[in-house]
Formats: sequence, structure tokens, C-alpha cells
Amino acid sequence: MSRKLLLEHAEVPGIETYAVYRKQGGYRAVEKALKALTPENVLDEVKISGLRGRGGAGFPTGMKWSFLAKPEGTPRYLLCNADESEPGTFKDRLLMERLPHLLIEGMILSAYALGCRTAYIYIRGEYKWIIKILERAIAEAYANGWLGERILGADFSFDLHVTPGAGAYICGEETALIESLEGKRGNPRLKPPFPAVSGLWGCPTLVNNVESLCAVVPIVNDGGEAFAAIGVGRSTGTKLISACGNINKPGVYEIELGLPVEEFIYSDEYCGGIKNGKRLKAVVPGGSSVPILPADLILKTAAGEDRLLSYESLADGGFVSGSMLGSGGFIVYDEDQCMVRNTWNFSRFYHHESCGQCSPCREGTGWLEKVLHRLEHGHGRMHDIDLLVDISKKIEGNTICPLGDAAAWPVASAVRHFRDEFEWHVLEPQLSQQRNFGLAMEAVAV
Ligand code: SF4
Repeated sequence: MSRKLLLEHAEVPGIETYAVYRKQGGYRAVEKALKALTPENVLDEVKISGLRGRGGAGFPTGMKWSFLAKPEGTPRYLLCNADESEPGTFKDRLLMERLPHLLIEGMILSAYALGCRTAYIYIRGEYKWIIKILERAIAEAYANGWLGERILGADFSFDLHVTPGAGAYICGEETALIESLEGKRGNPRLKPPFPAVSGLWGCPTLVNNVESLCAVVPIVNDGGEAFAAIGVGRSTGTKLISACGNINKPGVYEIELGLPVEEFIYSDEYCGGIKNGKRLKAVVPGGSSVPILPADLILKTAAGEDRLLSYESLADGGFVSGSMLGSGGFIVYDEDQCMVRNTWNFSRFYHHESCGQCSPCREGTGWLEKVLHRLEHGHGRMHDIDLLVDISKKIEGNTICPLGDAAAWPVASAVRHFRDEFEWHVLEPQLSQQRNFGLAMEAVAV
């Protein structure tokens, strides 16, 4: 059974309140840091832990922290990216709903290490009820002296605010988030300069995901080495995986990185196998923006090794036969699911969410959606399949922010691994529109 560093107390009744959280050892890490550690000590522990950003990119958190510019007399800001809107990803929601004080504690520690006086939690606007939970928890933290002036009598003061997001997926991109927080349209900025140098209101700014900030608490409590001892290779610690799709037990699971994918899908401790005894067809392992993998490649790498839930193992094989851990949004498809319909669905999302600043994304996502729509609705042509690949290639790497790549990768990978299904939609346009795609294909095969 995986160790739980973040969700250990998630099922304790009332854990979202200060009294219960404190009783379970909450705010111990802040006491330890403010009484016995310097900000540099906290930064060192995060570096030693090997923690990598849990929002999707997987960049080493300690290194990111060390990039934060510290010009004399200029404020620095800490921003919590809680704009969780990637299809298939719902792990931060659980953390904020059940453990708001864990996030607050992680932010106090992070602000202490970074020398930030003010921080904001930029939360997805649709999470209205969670905004209330966070505001209540922040008020409790102020009332009990964990936020505000001279916390625990130390030379450290810290204020924390919650800001509802603007209702756009792109506001989860860190520079778009900053624009939105400044009251503007959430358009991603050209980089450089990076937020660590010029972010919120032109000041050095650090943006971290909810889960990354929460992970700082066990790192300070138990030490970076203890965190680094969990996991495999450069994938250290635990990770929350939000599992959904055709599985028996959808939900949010905290796993030790390095867990075999097969165990995660079939063990009763996690997903409990494929629903209704069906066969596994494919998995999107890291949220809708990463390449999809067919059953054989999600369970084993191309070299025949067990595929693990880790940054390196999921990427093994590059984009020919690998994918990415991403945000940990694990979407499972059974044998009846149609890959063309699924890809069209993702494309509709990315076209709708493109901010429109750069042509390859603005026009390309629209083309992808249009071509996939006609394939799915029985009007596709054989050369549309190569057209999808061509458009994806022209978007990839040619845009201001990663949304372009996120729109291109699922399409390119779906065609790479399920080309026969795309062809089948051209050859059998009527049958391919049936909801149960697996049965329709079998009928033709018979
Ligand atoms: Fe906007 Fe898309 Fe360009 Fe990102 S890639 S800046 S979402 S148009």
C-alpha cells in the first residue's frame, strides 16, 4: 500500500476545520520552520526532496524557487495556481475541499523560503463552494496567528488572499494567470521575461500548483531526504492521480511514484479494473493534453518493461511510443470507446479555449475540430487523416504558450496509434457513428 503524505488525514471528519487539522499535527511544519530553520534551510530541503511541479510540467520545484529574483526594495509574490480545468484532472479540488489548511500551511512555508509578504490563490471560478471553504480556512488561520503580522513572533509577516478565476482554461498558464490577476484578459505573455523576474505587476513572482505547495509540508516536517527516498529515480515522493473513465473505482489516489500502471488499473486498492469486465483499449495518463497510449503501450514500454507511473517511465519512447505524467489526470477507455469521437471531443475543447493570440493555435485548433467533426459525422475523406497529422505538426512548437502543443499531441497520437479507426470512419461512415464503437467494428469484422 502506498504511503500517504498529503491525503493521510483526508478522511478524518472535520479535517477542513482548523481545530481538527491542528489536532492532527497541522501547522507543525510552520512552527519548525519559523523556530529552527532559515528560509535558505527550507529552500535546501525542497531541493533535496527532488519535488517536481505537480501541475503538469514536472520542473524541479527547488530549482524554480532559486530562479526568483530578489532585487532590493521590490516585493515578491507567491501565486497558487488552483485554476484546475484540464479535462480528466480533479486532484487539486480534493486537496482544497478536504485539506484547505494543508494548502495554507504549504503556502506559509513557501512564502517564508522565498521572502514573499503577499500571496494569492487563483482558483478556478467554477469551484465556487471551494472558494468559501478556503476563505473560511484563511479566516481561521488569521484568527489563530498563522497569517498576518510577525507570525509566531518571528520576523516574518504574510498575507494570503483568494481570487476567483476568469472561467478560461488558458488562465491556468502562469503568465495568463498573472494577466488575469491584474484584471486583464487572460492572454499568455511572451517569454522572456519569465515571471521569476517580472511577473505580477512587474515584480518577481513564483507560481506553483496546489499539490506542489501542499507537498512542502511533509518535506519540512520529515526532511527532504525522507521525501526523496520515496519513488523511483528522479520521480520522488507521492503524486495524486485523478482516475476516471471506464474503471470500477474512479477517484483521486495518492500513489508512490514508480507504481506499475498495471497495478494501478487492476488492483482493488486503486481503479479496481475495467468496468463490466471489458478489455482495456487505451489510456490518456496525464490529462487531456498528453498523448494517448493504446493498451499494450500503457502497460509495457516498447522495450517490454513494465510501464510505471513516473515522469521518466511514461515518457519512455518519446512521442512514438510514450506519453507524459502531466497533471496526473488518468483517463481510461474500454474496448467500446471510439478514438475518433474522443479526439474530436478534445479538439472542440482546445478550439474553444484558444485565446486566439497566435495563428497556428487559433486557426489550427479550428481546423482540427472541423476535420475531426466531418470524420466523426460520416463526411470524412481518406486524405483528412494525413491532414490532421500535418496540422498538428504545424501547431506544435510554434505557439506562444503550451496550449498549442496540448491541442496537437492528442490528435497526432490518436492517428499514430489508431489509424485503422480513422480509416474505418471513412470506409464505414454510417456504422462509425454508432455509440458503441467496439460492437460496430466487431459487426463489420464478422
Ligand atoms: Fe493563445 Fe493558443 Fe497562442 Fe496560447 S498557443 S497564446 S492559447 S493562441
